[in-house]
Amino acid sequence: TGSRRQSLTEKAQAKIAKVLSYGDYAVDATVGNGNDTFFLADHVGPEGAVVGFDIQELALHRATAVLGEAQLLQRVKLVQKSHHRMAEFVPDDWHGKIKAIMFNLGYLPRGDKSVITQADTTILALEASIKILAVGGRMTVVAYTGHDGGQEETNAIREWLRPLTISHYDVEMIPAEVQTSGSPELYVITRTD
Ligand code: SAM
Repeated sequence: TGSRRQSLTEKAQAKIAKVLSYGDYAVDATVGNGNDTFFLADHVGPEGAVVGFDIQELALHRATAVLGEAQLLQRVKLVQKSHHRMAEFVPDDWHGKIKAIMFNLGYLPRGDKSVITQADTTILALEASIKILAVGGRMTVVAYTGHDGGQEETNAIREWLRPLTISHYDVEMIPAEVQTSGSPELYVITRTD
């Protein structure tokens, strides 16, 4: 709202808000400091539920604090595992019913910048995600090109997305408003049938 520029992470949340309702299931594939987990938990309401993944204890620790303060922990399960294993940790009866999955790649802000998402596990995680997404469900991926390996990861995502646009999915790419070398990109993938 207002004239302030929306960041890509805010745009990702706005895209998700359009498809996510009270009582829905959602996944945060990269919990980090918990901003997206918080957003998802808030939007699914007390009848909904969220599973969040991060490989770093520090991230889950921070997210737990933020969610706890807002009394949202009851509807959130945080898992310290790589997102490419999400199918094992998301309840079986959620498969095909998940309305939103969010990825915010790269490193943990205010954390160890050497722990970053990796192209191969990111692609496996995206593959796992589309298998459990509901019809009408949506995934967002914020990808960064500025750090070591970021460009390779973004290229791998683009390659992976290409055949998806042929059927069953709608794919949108939203660039950063101010484009510099290394500026992020937002991918929005919606399952249409
Ligand atoms: N969305 C978060 C927020 O709102 O604060 C920021 C996420 S941060 C940019 C990326 C996170 O991905 C880091 O916390 C990092 O530990 C995590 N990560 C890296 N590799 C991962 C993996 N294989 N599975 C799950 N999380 C991973």
